[in-house]
Amino acid sequence: MQLNGHIDKMQTSLAGSLAQYHLLFDDKRVDMNSLVGSPIELSFNKTIQCANCGRITPKSYSQGYCFPCARSLARCDLCIMRPETCHYHLGTCREPDWGLSNCFTPHIVYLANSSGIKVGITRKTNTPSRWIDQGAISALPILEVKTRLESGLIEKALKSFITDKTNWRVMLKNETEPADLVTAKASLLAEVSSLVDELDAKTFPADVVNIDYPVLKYPTKVVSLSFDKTPVISGVLNGIKGQYLLLESGVLNIRKFSSYHLTLST
Ligand SMILES: [Zn+2]
Repeated sequence: MQLNGHIDKMQTSLAGSLAQYHLLFDDKRVDMNSLVGSPIELSFNKTIQCANCGRITPKSYSQGYCFPCARSLARCDLCIMRPETCHYHLGTCREPDWGLSNCFTPHIVYLANSSGIKVGITRKTNTPSRWIDQGAISALPILEVKTRLESGLIEKALKSFITDKTNWRVMLKNETEPADLVTAKASLLAEVSSLVDELDAKTFPADVVNIDYPVLKYPTKVVSLSFDKTPVISGVLNGIKGQYLLLESGVLNIRKFSSYHLTLST
């Protein structure tokens, strides 16, 4: 098989407890799980096309955009990374309509075990993809709120007690220890109970979601691959976790290369 096109981050879903990965090459969709265990080659054709305006850009900004779009799109604004700094109410949202439909929708605050227990937030409709993208082996939604800003305020408060980061090397080497998310949920909710009341956040009656990944062999040493340095990357695909392809030759963060024009050969 050989096909090419501009890629996006892998589409993720759960089948039972197994993470499923699909990679888009423009309008062609490849089942990546089926390639695990086989040699593959990905080559960068030296073209990056902005995911928003379609312009060819010499460099990718904000994971797949040209410089002007990265400066003007709300989804590339700092408040997306730090939702507690939402500035819609000041009338300064870069794209108020986009903000209304993406940030003023139900969001959840969750715990996930990616390299240890972490806190995170996401749109309610974005689970379990968000957890798979982070390589979490388990996740538990804990609160539902009405807006991204409110989820950010709760996350910020919880960050006094727990990290919001993943150690991606630990995650990729599969050195994550099992963790009791239910017990952690109870103690963390107690710490932020007044804020939960103030924001009228709903506690989430969900169960822990366990996630397995299609991996035959984890790396013992993590070597990061990049199309900017090595235009042709090949090797046996040992597995997929988070947004990473685990190749015999190293790990490739697919998300970082969104909008790159690639050819896949199997
Ligand atoms: Zn653009």
